[in-house]
Amino acid sequence: MAASKSAQLCMQAYQYKQTGCKYEVIKPLTDNRDAINYVVSRVGLKEPCVALKDLQNFTPKTDTQFVLIDEVQFFSAADIDRLVEIVDYNPKITVICYGLKTDSNEHLFPASQRLLEVDASTEEIKTVCQHPGCPNRASHNARFNANGTLVINGPQIEVGASQYKSLCRKHFNMFKQAALQKTK
Ligand SMILES: [Zn+2]
Repeated sequence: MAASKSAQLCMQAYQYKQTGCKYEVIKPLTDNRDAINYVVSRVGLKEPCVALKDLQNFTPKTDTQFVLIDEVQFFSAADIDRLVEIVDYNPKITVICYGLKTDSNEHLFPASQRLLEVDASTEEIKTVCQHPGCPNRASHNARFNANGTLVINGPQIEVGASQYKSLCRKHFNMFKQAALQKTK
């Protein structure tokens, strides 16, 4: 996943550290690509974290001001409801979630859908399409198999083996057409 979400999280954590704010970093246990207790970004930034299976029993420490959540799309809708409970009953806590809105088949992840439904304020991390020479905004997170073919009907959550590319809608559809041709 080429969007710089993890890097953004690490930079945010760095700022809190500089200003003496108390924060916690959480990531889903599903995300096992890197060291389990670190958020690691492609550009080399690294931040210690706690990996959790779900957020049902998650309670921030008493002095925590900010909770940063990486790869939030791998949590469930119910986990988002737990976060809502935390922020609504602890006005001094801010939760910031970093993640993808849609999967590689243009469907919302349940957690991302829930975030929209509960009216979490959203901000888009802008990246450019990774297709060579394309200046468009990347809007699609495309998953490719080992042969470089777009995976059309794979499982929604799969980490590690596949290759991901951030593409604009036009180039996503170009690879989708090519993949559909191959399956005919
Ligand atoms: Zn493009």
